[in-house]
Amino acid sequence: MRVGIIGAGQLGRMLALAGYPLGIQTRFLDPNANGSGGQVGPVVVGEIDDAARIDALARQVDVVTFDIENVPVDTLRAGTADSIVRPPPEALSIAQDRLNEKQLFGRLNIPAAPYMPIASLGDLERAPDALGWPIVLKARRLGYDGRGQRLVQSAAELEVAWRELGRVPSLAEGWVDFERELSLIAVRGSDGATAFYPLAENVHVDGILHTTTAPYQDERTQSRAEDYLALMLAELDYCGVLTVEFFLADGELMANEIAPRVHNSGHWTIEGAQTSQFENHMRAIVGLPLGGTSPTGFSFMLNLIGELPDRERLLKIAGLHLHDYGKTPRPKRKIGHCTLVTATEEERSVRADELIAVAGIP
Ligand code: AMP
Repeated sequence: MRVGIIGAGQLGRMLALAGYPLGIQTRFLDPNANGSGGQVGPVVVGEIDDAARIDALARQVDVVTFDIENVPVDTLRAGTADSIVRPPPEALSIAQDRLNEKQLFGRLNIPAAPYMPIASLGDLERAPDALGWPIVLKARRLGYDGRGQRLVQSAAELEVAWRELGRVPSLAEGWVDFERELSLIAVRGSDGATAFYPLAENVHVDGILHTTTAPYQDERTQSRAEDYLALMLAELDYCGVLTVEFFLADGELMANEIAPRVHNSGHWTIEGAQTSQFENHMRAIVGLPLGGTSPTGFSFMLNLIGELPDRERLLKIAGLHLHDYGKTPRPKRKIGHCTLVTATEEERSVRADELIAVAGIP
């Protein structure tokens, strides 16, 4: 069983590491042979938007997957004409365009923030009449970790936001006064078997995920989120891990974004669930039975952003798991994460405070 991963970032690295014990060999396609993934597996060196290099990778493996979302879908299809690609490229093309995402939510009757497609400054100037203030202007494509979006608080700021975003096709979104941000991770096997992890609660700072606390225990919300993901999995004839980020507002879920891949808000599953999201993605795409998704305790995950805190001080925290992605430190860059799994919620909160005291808040 050989899996080809387009992109060799930390997600690819953790997928590869999860595959080894199952006897799954991985190789990557990435311009950088020595990056996060390249440090743990062989790399076909090339650009991820080069169909010939994708084809070179695909010929060496049984199934192709990806650890990043900006692989051009037409190029992916051209480079994998004779190969199995999981998750389906269709899911990627939806996740790459916020308008496609909104239309998917609409088609499946999944609640989401109100929005308007924006193609011109004129469109944007009309948006507040329908959406109220403030609005969030989001580029339709290539936004991640808070990039490619602007909060607009008044009419005077509209033109600046439009210019700063590069006058690209966008969405204007109504502001959601949410209580919490939650995400749900599902995995679907090639035979259609499906499993859901428990909901996780996420805190973002400057648009970048800072912490995840799991499980978020609320049966009604869990079951509603599972219903929504089940609709998406069926609609997309999905195989692999699918993540959906939600806002919880007035006790109801609103879908915000989908990621057709393993997700930062699921890193806690490495130590905090029976089977990690990475292992389950690998199991699903090579056609193995899925593993259990139950939590093994109360988990807290903290992203390490920009630079690594003192390793020794971190590791002195009882039960702490450190994941150093082997990346060069850079402001706002995710370079690692820490996970704590405890037997009680009280213990989690004590340990989490210790961790935040060492790692700081970005
Ligand atoms: P996104 O790239 O859409 O995931 O947005 C990044 C973060 O910005 C979200 O996780 C929220 O914290 C915040 N955000 C995005 N859209 C909205 C909105 N319509 N209302 C309130 N907060 C938002």
